[in-house]
Amino acid sequence: MIPRTLKIRGRTFKVKQVNARDLSEDTIGLIDIDHLTISVYKRLPHTRKVEIVLHEALHGMLDGYHAKSEEAIVSVLCEAIPEFARANPGFMSLIGKQS
Ligand SMILES: [Zn+2]
Repeated sequence: MIPRTLKIRGRTFKVKQVNARDLSEDTIGLIDIDHLTISVYKRLPHTRKVEIVLHEALHGMLDGYHAKSEEAIVSVLCEAIPEFARANPGFMSLIGKQS
């Protein structure tokens, strides 16, 4: 289940599953920082939607850093984070926990 909201660096973004007409051509996901929304094309397979939402969330995390190659960084992390999470479930369960 894709969550309806995601908290990204202190801001709560609405996650909207939208029709193709709500996105520009050749776009399947979008983050709107000003309106705190992440949009994902609703007809994608679930695993692809998760990837797209993670991709857009990573853009949200990098907002304000003015990274030169933001798209490249997001693309690498979008593949590397799930792979890292699958390979290190014990460590992942520690992330975000209060000691
Ligand atoms: Zn992107």
